[in-house]
Amino acid sequence: VNKEHTLNLLRNLEDRARKEAAGHRKYLLRLKEKHPRDLDAVFKRLHDEVFETIDCLTCARCCRVRSPRIKERDINRLAKHFNTSPKGFANQYLTADDEGDFHFKTSPCPFIGEDNLCQVYDECPDDCSEYPYTDSRNMRGMLVTLRNNIPVCPAVYEIVEKLKGVYPL
Ligand code: SF4
Ligand code: SF4
Repeated sequence: VNKEHTLNLLRNLEDRARKEAAGHRKYLLRLKEKHPRDLDAVFKRLHDEVFETIDCLTCARCCRVRSPRIKERDINRLAKHFNTSPKGFANQYLTADDEGDFHFKTSPCPFIGEDNLCQVYDECPDDCSEYPYTDSRNMRGMLVTLRNNIPVCPAVYEIVEKLKGVYPL
């Protein structure tokens, strides 16, 4: 991993993503229509390639900018960690959105340290450990969601740019 490289990728990420939003949207929709059989394998390869060079501890945008979804089993695990009840944990840290899904009350996340380390790493919500979902199964079904992550995660931006080289549409 490379700190300098990560800082470069973070430079103007949101501006670049905004400028290219329409192009990215069109491309990902076309890719979905094209339905390449090897899409999951290609994503996995690009995911590994990109994360080989990115230092998540330098970035930490997913912990600072987005608000992960906290499911019941995450609440149970975290409550146990803090030696409290699920209800007690939820009252202290969580809020429900319009759809009834739980998120942390505060953003950045209350568990991100100044050194960008997650203070509940072993118990962190599934939505955190699976983020940015670029090595999931059924990446075709994830393509639309992926778009929302382009301005958040420099790795997603890079993976989408590299995809264009693999599938020029
Ligand atoms: S729980 Fe940990 S991994 Fe999840 S957002 Fe907070 S600091 Fe980041
Ligand atoms: S936003 Fe992406 S690159 Fe940044 S810390 Fe999260 S997963 Fe790593």
